[in-house]
Amino acid sequence: KAKTSARGTAVWYTPQMQDELLKKRQIEDELREALGRDELSVFYQPIVDSRRGLVVAMEALLRWRHPERGMISPGVFIPIAEETGLIVEIGAWVLRQACRDATAWPSHIRVAVNLAPLQFQEADLLDTISEALAESGLAPDRLELEITESALISNTIDVEAKLKSIAALGARLALDDFGTGYSSLSYLNRFPVRKVKIDQAFSRQAIDSPKTQAIISAISALARDLDLDLVAEGVETHAQLAFMASKSIFLIQGFLYSKPRPIEELLPLLENWADAPRLEDVAA
Ligand code: C2E
Ligand code: MG
Ligand code: MG
Ligand code: MG
Repeated sequence: KAKTSARGTAVWYTPQMQDELLKKRQIEDELREALGRDELSVFYQPIVDSRRGLVVAMEALLRWRHPERGMISPGVFIPIAEETGLIVEIGAWVLRQACRDATAWPSHIRVAVNLAPLQFQEADLLDTISEALAESGLAPDRLELEITESALISNTIDVEAKLKSIAALGARLALDDFGTGYSSLSYLNRFPVRKVKIDQAFSRQAIDSPKTQAIISAISALARDLDLDLVAEGVETHAQLAFMASKSIFLIQGFLYSKPRPIEELLPLLENWADAPRLEDVAA
């Protein structure tokens, strides 16, 4: 197969490129049917207050159990869902499911749902959110919507108005993967964001890189001054937990506490998580 390059000369796909294209098309087709076939499910990962070992929120993370391929990672299929627009329908489904699930949890526990940039651009996003809330009966301030900075860069919609109308519904906004995008700091000031999630990459380097430590320190000070909740994502070790605590970061999401799991496995931990990793175990 040949495609035509910008200069008009034919460019041949390497076998590997062809493979990838085919695979992508196939995933797209199969993803279109996955919803109807009940192959998608929502897992949850707890966000824990490390001082008390208490779950304060759970993030909804989409999983796809493919009949032949097994579990397909969202890192693979979410980008394809975004490219093809399927994310709008799938995302609305996740939102409804997450709101419904959360009504069964203790009422101090919030549910966090990721919004893809494309969903954020959609004209009916507000309706989708308010319908999910109304249908489930979930208190709006228990719903947190996680957006990334890339969603906030748009020439086609009035981002500020959109964020304000989401906030007006009573739902809370969180900035995901913080520190990886552009001009993050100005967003915090302009938009009604309540929570910031420090990207996993920072947690990974928190012990070894003095530069990363300085950045985490600065983000923590900023969050405190702007009165924002701050979550560290991707915390896997006690050393990372202790480092975050030393920077006054106590809201922790990571494998140290739990991987994303089906809700049934997490329900017992929501009221009383007796053997949750404790900060005092590591504080020297
Ligand atoms: P995210 O929103 O930043 O979600 C956190 C990701 O970090 C999850 O990956 C989670 O499993 C992973 N993670 C959490 N703690 C640790 C840790 O300690 N170590 C390591 N190595 N990883 C950790 P996951 O579930 O594979 O999801 C990847 C991304 O896919 C998400 O990143 C999000 O951007 C996207 N995604 C997942 N579900 C949805 C969804 O329903 N809608 C949309 N639009 N995007 C979704
Ligand atoms: Mg997220
Ligand atoms: Mg993240
Ligand atoms: Mg991410």
